[in-house]
This record gives sequence, structure tokens and C-alpha cells, in this order.
Amino acid sequence: MLFNMKIEERTSSTVHTSGAILLISCYELGHRPAGLTRPRRALKTAGFAPDTIDIAVEPLAVEKVKSARFIGISVPMHTALRLGVHLLHRIRQINPDALICMYGLYATLNADYLLSQGVNFCIANTASTELVALVQSVVEGEQIETQKTGFRTAKLPPLEAYAQFEDNGETRTVGYTETTHGCKHLCTHCPIPPIYNGKFFVVQPDTVLAEIQEQVAQGATHITFGDPDFLNGPMHGLRILREMHKVYPNLTFDFTTKIEHILKHRKHFLEFAQLGCRFVISAVESLSERVLTILEKHHTRADVETAIDIVHGAGIALRPTWVPFTPWTTLDDYLEIFQFVDTHRLVYHVDPVQYAVRLLIPPGSYLLNRPETKALSHTLDEASFSYTWIHPDVQMDELHKTVNALVENDARADVDTLETFYRIWTLAADMQGQPPPEQNRDVHQPAPRITEAWFC
Ligand code: SF4
Repeated sequence: MLFNMKIEERTSSTVHTSGAILLISCYELGHRPAGLTRPRRALKTAGFAPDTIDIAVEPLAVEKVKSARFIGISVPMHTALRLGVHLLHRIRQINPDALICMYGLYATLNADYLLSQGVNFCIANTASTELVALVQSVVEGEQIETQKTGFRTAKLPPLEAYAQFEDNGETRTVGYTETTHGCKHLCTHCPIPPIYNGKFFVVQPDTVLAEIQEQVAQGATHITFGDPDFLNGPMHGLRILREMHKVYPNLTFDFTTKIEHILKHRKHFLEFAQLGCRFVISAVESLSERVLTILEKHHTRADVETAIDIVHGAGIALRPTWVPFTPWTTLDDYLEIFQFVDTHRLVYHVDPVQYAVRLLIPPGSYLLNRPETKALSHTLDEASFSYTWIHPDVQMDELHKTVNALVENDARADVDTLETFYRIWTLAADMQGQPPPEQNRDVHQPAPRITEAWFC
């Protein structure tokens, strides 16, 4: 399947008679990267034996970089791309002749810039078909002598090297898979629609179950389903969960889905709980009607409250995510989030970094088509992979900087989530000329989570 494949090939006059394929992941939210596991498997099936490095948990092995002829760098998200570009320059110093391909969502969104920085190929998706085709064409074109089937493929880091599931003293080793790619929705702030344009594609159940089986054999006791939206194809997901539960009745899991889907598929949540679901992540983003309209989220504050009732009513925790700093968010909107989280006893359901998230507008973003964005002063900063924007209310940008620093300091000092929550709320209330919020510390209970704060 071909999605917006954007390829620019530089022709090389050098014919290499030996070489290797190296795949590198920079960052994938603390779990074992699908950007390595799936291409690695696809390349193995095609007869190659790629080496891998996950720089989130391993050092950059200079010898591997030196001997590689083809290097794929997985950049599925903004943070990964920032790290990936640093890595690109380092790789070019170590191995100036290597052919470098960046692959993943952010590779295509920023292809013009990346190609100008010395990347040879940019591929949008990590489903691997294009990557295998590219490796094959490079290998054949350059007569690279690669390791064929029968050679040992380097091992991936153990699952224990990654973030763990944690709930009130219970810990679990986390495996990761995806049952779909893309998304059928068109939320304007999301990087997926410019690439997938409202389409999603299922991964065959056998493939997903094989990935689960492999990771359970390596010690996984919890699976994160990292689909952009697990309920785009609810029956597809359910079939996989039922099969998984039959074979591994003690395995728990989490998934991500939008508020609209929680409401639409409410009848399945009791079954999700019975099958081992411990928490669901949902991108609430804002409670402001205006902001939700601009982001085209198709939910309201009342819908979010209904979704909490559905998910919590089934005995599953809902972990909302937020984009609290947008050009259209007022200080009152920001304060409303804190009141809401406090009232609904969600303090431990939200990683503090969420209160510091500032809207990213990547190249090609659907937000650029919105009249509200056109009315803003915004310019593309290619090296930051996004448009810069300034809030019309200068104090909101100041608040963002202060909250960002506070969250970072508290995370470094291992300050309890509840403490950080009230500190930020107090800060924002003070800016609004309000007294410090009343603190209901006793009502907030720890919630299941993955021990890695969410960073896109
Ligand atoms: S935010 Fe979620 S539902 Fe919306 S387009 Fe992105 S993945 Fe789909």
C-alpha cells in the first residue's frame, strides 16, 4: 500500500561490494518501537538481516554505523524527528557515504527540509512495504552484498529496558503492537490526516497476534495497542482482543480512542474490561467549544463527561490528554481544565507534562486551512518542523513558559503528580487574580499508567 511516498534519490557513482542495513529508532513514547520491529520483520521475510539500534535505550554503536550502507531512521513523531536530525548529522560524520532514509509520519511532512539536510529518501509510513522495496532497489542497484536469510539478525533490547505498566504498586512488563494504521477522522491539529487523508488500514489479526505472542514469550504481561484510534475498526480490534484473551487470560492492555468513539461504542466497554483493559487514553485536548470546533474534534465538554462515566463505569481508567496552549485558548479555558480534572478526580490520570503541551502546527497541517489560523501571524520554521505562532494574549505565552519550566523541574525532582497539579493551578489562578484553589488531596487516587510521560 502506498501512502504519499516521497522519494528523492541521489545517484551515487560508487559501487559498494559490501554493506549492511541498519535501522535506528530515536523515540517512541517509551515502548519498544514499532518503527523497528515491523520493518525488521518485513526485511527478514524479504531475506535481509538488518541490524537495529534504539537510541532511547542503547548507545549509538559507531561500528554499526560505520559499516552500514543503508541506514533507516524511524521518525514517527515530532520528538523523534528532532532527535533524528541530530542523529543524521552525527551519522554523516561517521559514515558520509551511507544512504539514509527517514521513515514515519514526520518524515514526509518535513521531507523538503530533510532532503535539503542530506537525507536521501523520505517514506511516510512504517508499514514496511515501501521500505523493503527501497532496500531491494538500493541493494540491486548498487550490488550491495547483504546478509541474506540464514544470518543472525541482531536482537532488540529486552522489554524490561522500556517503560513499565504501573498501578498502585503493581508493575507489568509492556509489549506494544498496532492493529491499524492511519485514521478515518480529520482532526485539524493531528499529523495523521495530511498523510492518510481520512483512511485507515487494518493489520492482519495473525500479524498482530504473532507480535503479541513474541512479546509475551519475552516477558510482556501488558500490551499497549498504539493504533492512532483503536476503535476506528471496533470489530477488528475486538476479534484480536478475544483471541488474545483466550490464549493469555492474564494479559492486560490499554488502547487509545477518541471521545466520539467511546460514546458510539459504549456497549463494548464492559467486555473490554473483562478482556483485561486497564486504561484508555483519549485526546480530549480542550473543554472550550471554540477550540474544539477549530480542532474539529467533534466532541463537547458534556461528551467528555459521558465518556468518563462509560469508561469508569466499566472499571477502566480514562486517561485524557490535552493541548492546553493554543492560539485560541484563554486563561479561563486553561483554568477550566484544572477545575474539571479536580472535580472528576482525574489528577493521577493526567501526566503533568500534559498541562504544558503547546499546539504544534507541522507543515501540511489541516489547521492551515482554518480561517482562524489564517487570521494568525504564523511562519514556518523548517528547522523546528512546525509553524511558529504567538498568542494574541501575551500572558498566555508567559504562562506556557513558566508552566513548562515548572513541570520540567518537578519531573526532575520526582515531585508527586498531585503536588505539581496544584502548583500549576495556583500559578494560573494567581495570573487571573484568583485565590489559590481549594485542595481536595484525599479524593485523588493513583491510576494505572505507563511510566513514561507522553511526548508527541
Ligand atoms: S486526533 Fe485521533 S481521531 Fe483525530 S485524526 Fe488524529 S488519530 Fe484520528
